[in-house]
Amino acid sequence: MSAPVMIFLGTAGSGKGTQAQKLSENLDIVHLSTGDLLREARDNSTELGEAAESYIAAGDLVPDELILNLIKEKLSDDNIRSKGCILDGFPRTIAQAEGLSALLKTLNITLDKVFLFDISLEETIERLGGRRICATCQRIFHVKHNPATAANHPCDGELKIRVDDTEEKIRYRYKVYQEQTAPLIDYYSAKLVTLDAAASPDIIYNTIKGQIMALED
Ligand code: AMP
Repeated sequence: MSAPVMIFLGTAGSGKGTQAQKLSENLDIVHLSTGDLLREARDNSTELGEAAESYIAAGDLVPDELILNLIKEKLSDDNIRSKGCILDGFPRTIAQAEGLSALLKTLNITLDKVFLFDISLEETIERLGGRRICATCQRIFHVKHNPATAANHPCDGELKIRVDDTEEKIRYRYKVYQEQTAPLIDYYSAKLVTLDAAASPDIIYNTIKGQIMALED
């Protein structure tokens, strides 16, 4: 069996990034978050970062061509073939999904599963309002549900609120998701596993892990 290749699909605040981080660390699977890669590029003022900055701040999607170039470079990494990968927050449009499909075909890699993190707008607003991200290690915390401690945050880096985590931007990003990303639910219907993203993080983690283990049988 080849290493698992999965997409995590869902609105901002659905918990996909937190689950992807944990699965990646525990099961040694590559975690590719286009949001993290874009923020890193922005913070390092690279050409990509400068091109993406205004889209990120507005809560709009970065143009497909820029995202596909970024993913093309990352998917060529040999670790993907040996360890597998979680695509977190990519694809976000049908054009990106078609680009991904072509790329995977060239690399002779099969997409195994698409996990949909299903959650309401109200829950999203509650979660993202309390979200904090470490500027150093990129770990995600929540002031109420998952506060940073010496045990879960050994680097003790500065915790920041994202520029796009205001209520107005969260509502706007939800609308962008419904318009541009939700069509992927039908597109991937054959590989889709829908998760109740309001359930406890442990239940969600174990469900996904179970699905990954079943792929290996
Ligand atoms: P995220 O961290 O996944 O919530 O992404 C933060 C922001 O980065 C989004 O609101 C977009 O501006 C941009 N972004 C991340 N991934 C993509 C993608 N696959 N396509 C277009 N824009 C993206």
